[in-house]
Amino acid sequence: MEKSNMYPNVPEQLQEMPPTAPPTYDASQTSGPTTVILQQPIPAAAFGPRPQIAVCPNCGERNLTEVKYENSNKTHLACLILCLVGLWCCCCIPYCVDSLKNANHYCQKCHNFLGVYNK
Ligand SMILES: [Zn+2]
Repeated sequence: MEKSNMYPNVPEQLQEMPPTAPPTYDASQTSGPTTVILQQPIPAAAFGPRPQIAVCPNCGERNLTEVKYENSNKTHLACLILCLVGLWCCCCIPYCVDSLKNANHYCQKCHNFLGVYNK
């Protein structure tokens, strides 16, 4: 008897909602995306200056990374220091030394950017 009385006494807010969407089902939907947010790419700190084994989040391939060296702030700083001490002829040397550059790691299969090693 009580259940049949509750149905006609539904507040106006619930009456606007379609009857096919009960509140319990709606609550389970909202809890889903919050766990998905926890997905994060591979931390950049895990990469070193040389190619290494890594799992690509894009294609799932586990392979050696492809490393491309890129000029970092230290590269420009080393060039500036060489210029300031008068070694003009040597100021381009830092741009030829990989150890003064950042190492960008890419997937060998799909060339997706995986992370960077900052000098
Ligand atoms: Zn890949």
